[in-house]
Amino acid sequence: MWAKREKKYYRIRASLFWLMTSGFILLVLGAYFKDELYEKWIRSGGMEDVVYEGIQSRLEDQGTCYICGSSDDSLADYYRTFDTIGLISLNDWYVLEFPLKCYGENGNEASGDGCNNSTSGNTGEFIYSIESNFHGSMVSVKVTLPENYQLKMENIREHLCQKCLDKVLESLEFRKWRHEKKEAVPLCLIDFKTQEIYSLQDWHQGCLIRDYWMEIELDGNEITVEAKRIE
Ligand SMILES: [Zn+2]
Repeated sequence: MWAKREKKYYRIRASLFWLMTSGFILLVLGAYFKDELYEKWIRSGGMEDVVYEGIQSRLEDQGTCYICGSSDDSLADYYRTFDTIGLISLNDWYVLEFPLKCYGENGNEASGDGCNNSTSGNTGEFIYSIESNFHGSMVSVKVTLPENYQLKMENIREHLCQKCLDKVLESLEFRKWRHEKKEAVPLCLIDFKTQEIYSLQDWHQGCLIRDYWMEIELDGNEITVEAKRIE
């Protein structure tokens, strides 16, 4: 024979009951609208400009500046001899050259159809791929940065003269929500002919470098720059 089980009841204060119920509802709603609430909170602080002012160069010998000087470690020194356009990774000073011209085996500028190019690699700081076709009239450079990339400011201060440092720092300025966790993209474009620096931050969608239109696209930690020659 089964003994009839008695049902259990708890007595709790009505106020406590309603507190628990409303707490539970809030928790469910919070979980459901989590992303929207987070987005709201991010935007609640308004926007701010991130600028790098009053930062002094730590380079002792001005002649060894990685952009305008000569240094055994600097690739910029080498690329300056060609009048090319490059993408500089500021964290490891790696330079990706836009293959705007096609060179034959003898080192002279070549013509013909054999100039479609594609290279890729990993520098340890980022992954890249470069594609060019139609004799350099279209070049696409794609860079994938690490998920939590961060600009190594000391690295720039130690290797640039004040003039070049100021130019690079200006190119690094960006806008963000005050509560947003956002870093400067540690890259910039350079015209080796004029040593002019161009920004690769997310607000910058394109610019003209000589007779090339540079189209810039930023998607998370992926940056694509397409150079198209203007006819
Ligand atoms: Zn310099």
